[in-house]
Amino acid sequence: MTAGTVTGGGDGSRMKLLTATSLTQGDLPGDFCFATQGELVWLGEVCARDRADLDGGCGCGRAFAGLTSRRATTTAVVAELDLSYDDLRAQVAEGFERSGFTPAVLDPLDFTELAEETADEMLHIARIWPVGTVVGRRLDNVHRRRPLPPGMTLEEMLRRLSPLP
Ligand SMILES: [Zn+2]
Repeated sequence: MTAGTVTGGGDGSRMKLLTATSLTQGDLPGDFCFATQGELVWLGEVCARDRADLDGGCGCGRAFAGLTSRRATTTAVVAELDLSYDDLRAQVAEGFERSGFTPAVLDPLDFTELAEETADEMLHIARIWPVGTVVGRRLDNVHRRRPLPPGMTLEEMLRRLSPLP
């Protein structure tokens, strides 16, 4: 990504990111979506149980974590958001603080770095797919669950994702 604090998406101030969605929920056994529709998600830490047995454990290794709700979802969709890189980094930092990873617990420098790394990772993952792509997670891998349904335009798909703020 190019340096700069105003934009991070490279295209105005719109950036592609993964957001929680209920789309395609139930297509796979073990699907769940407790996150808030439309909120930003990231790849949360995976517990030892899921690292050892991805399909038998608690599910965190197959799920994205809602940045705001801190709840999990096995489905996320690529969305284009009006957000600057600084906004994103701030939201990630707030999400960390809500989870108890505060600058007081971590070193303040580590905290800033971690928030930045996470923001970069979120952008990096979502950049690969077109808007509207529903994705799933297997530990450190994010994969496409399905393309746009046949006959559905991107606009229809996005309308279906509404209401977003
Ligand atoms: Zn777990």
